[in-house]
Amino acid sequence: MKFGTKVIHSGLQTDPATGAIITPIYQTSTYVQKKPGENMGFEYSRTKNPTRSALEKSIAALENGKFAICYSSGMGAADAIIKLLKPGNTIISNNDIYGGTYRMFEKVFSNFGLNFKYTDLTNTTNLNSLISEDTKLIWIETPSNPLMNIIDIGAIKEVVKHRKDILLVVDNTFATPVLQTPLDLGADIVLHSATKYLGGHSDLIMGALIINNSELYDQLFLITKSCGAVPGPMDCFLALRGIKTLDVRMAKHCQNAIKINEFLSSIEMVDRIYWPGRESHKNHKIAKKQMRKFGGMLSFTLKNNSFEDAITIISNTKLFKLAESLGGVESLISHPASMTHASIPKEEREKNNLSDSLIRISIGIEDAEDLINDLKQAFNGAKR
Ligand SMILES: *Cc1c(COP(=O)(O)O)cnc(C)c1O
Repeated sequence: MKFGTKVIHSGLQTDPATGAIITPIYQTSTYVQKKPGENMGFEYSRTKNPTRSALEKSIAALENGKFAICYSSGMGAADAIIKLLKPGNTIISNNDIYGGTYRMFEKVFSNFGLNFKYTDLTNTTNLNSLISEDTKLIWIETPSNPLMNIIDIGAIKEVVKHRKDILLVVDNTFATPVLQTPLDLGADIVLHSATKYLGGHSDLIMGALIINNSELYDQLFLITKSCGAVPGPMDCFLALRGIKTLDVRMAKHCQNAIKINEFLSSIEMVDRIYWPGRESHKNHKIAKKQMRKFGGMLSFTLKNNSFEDAITIISNTKLFKLAESLGGVESLISHPASMTHASIPKEEREKNNLSDSLIRISIGIEDAEDLINDLKQAFNGAKR
């Protein structure tokens, strides 16, 4: 089945009780049993709920996986992965992972005897030199935030494939299965913040893991039902509804990004543009090999690298709403140096190309001309 059909039909089953075409919101905590242990497949909603099961089947199909488990947030999903490990284990990740993931590693799990190492994984030799006996997990995010670095998933797998005890986790939140399917490239676990593109309407918080190996699925399922970070049925319903338009939404996000990239390239004030679809992007070749399109996330800097001008621009846009998060139908704009990455000292930030004037946009599915006009007037407001 092709992707555009999967998003509509996968996981959906006509309701056996009523014939309802849409999976109902099974707003129930428990299920009546005929005799102890004799039930219709559901006992208690922390373990399993029919609305959630439908969503899990749908998400698994989109990522070409056998199994999916949904969580009450992307971080809830990430937390379940780390609970596969034991004290003394080491996790290696790219040095520009999502800030929330970094915080969870450093502020929570470093207290549990786990070790975290960070490096630039766009270069796989960096991985080779960090791997040891204790390494049990490689955690990558591609494209990364906010500079859209691209990591070659297949090449990373190649480095670790002789080590059956190392799991490769790919956070596929930015790319979505429309642009890349990491399980096909050798990943063991795919992670989503379904809050972003999968849900797609900025109206829910949710996470998901997708797995092919049934033993690994059983372990994660046990962790999930034991620890309990499961989403409610209403949120699962919203995610199922959002997913139906994932394919058409992504097509528009990507198309708008092409036009906005062209527009920004013509603006005198703009210095660097970080978007993997640009031939000048340092990982463009890998992006071209690995991704089907280049996505709707883009960042850029200003020639004078002025913090104040960046603030003026992000405050001046009207359609691009100033907010954290991404992947919704509405365009968002943010300023990493004063928002998501404000806790990193300026010298550290500059070293990693997180300049004072860096602006990140999540390009929505509005009309591209209106979005361009909005940016135009915001730039004009910053001219001195
Ligand atoms: C938002 C995000 C997360 C965390 O997901 P939540 O749903 O906010 O808990 C993880 N990874 C990436 C890349 C994200 O953008």
